[in-house]
Amino acid sequence: MRLFEAIIDANHRAVAGDQKAGLHPADFASELPVVVLTCIDVRLNPLLPEVLGVPKEQFIWLRNAGNIITGPLSSTMRSLALACAVKGGKEIAIIGHTDCQIGRTTTMELIDRFRALGIERYLLPSNVNEFFGMFASERANVIKAAGIVRQSPVIGPKIPVHGLLLDIETGKVEWLVNGYQTLGTMGARLNEVADAAGHTLDALKSLADFEIGGIKFPETKIGETVAKAEDWLSGKVHQLESKPPPAPAAPAAKPAVPPRIPLPPPLRPKLRFHKGPK
Ligand SMILES: [Zn+2]
Repeated sequence: MRLFEAIIDANHRAVAGDQKAGLHPADFASELPVVVLTCIDVRLNPLLPEVLGVPKEQFIWLRNAGNIITGPLSSTMRSLALACAVKGGKEIAIIGHTDCQIGRTTTMELIDRFRALGIERYLLPSNVNEFFGMFASERANVIKAAGIVRQSPVIGPKIPVHGLLLDIETGKVEWLVNGYQTLGTMGARLNEVADAAGHTLDALKSLADFEIGGIKFPETKIGETVAKAEDWLSGKVHQLESKPPPAPAAPAAKPAVPPRIPLPPPLRPKLRFHKGPK
């Protein structure tokens, strides 16, 4: 059983009432620390990392409003990349949560709230929703974020990228994207494309790095940056795929979405793992 399989298993047992459910971090030394992106919601403060059973010192915690990834080269993505490259993060998890206010605030409400803070509509970008990355579905937001991280050129293909949803009432964690299933999908695809084009994966990556470094994106237009970066990435892959000899048809990298698991009837207000000795 791999790290997040053990985490989910222990979490579900704990939610079901198993007082002994927990994780033994020593068993997963090679898969720790984990890098986790969550929302800024303060209700998460007492829940993490306890509901995962991961020790605080092995839990690299990144937060932004709505656990949003705006693009493969965004500021948050750069922090995720450095969390792995500099701080030794072995696996990445995007953890959304139920009752997320970022997902429940409408455009009009948001504009009203800014106005109440003295910020008039004309001072905000025209595409307020897109600019702030507002979303309608917590699940879709996590799945999208995990997909963007998985395909980011600054995240190594060996790093599993998971997507989870945390029930803020029960502490139950639901797996939306199994990073072990999608692991290597993009790396394998790049390898196939690179082989077909007569290049090695390293050559492809250095080419990507070079060209990314040469593009100047306007810092203030997040939506536009996302669109440009995504266009650039898809264009790059398409360009390599269309080089002779033709690349073998590779399936598109799509995050695996396990069937939705219903919550257990008894809701436990705050779950804690017992992290005692074995
Ligand atoms: Zn939230």
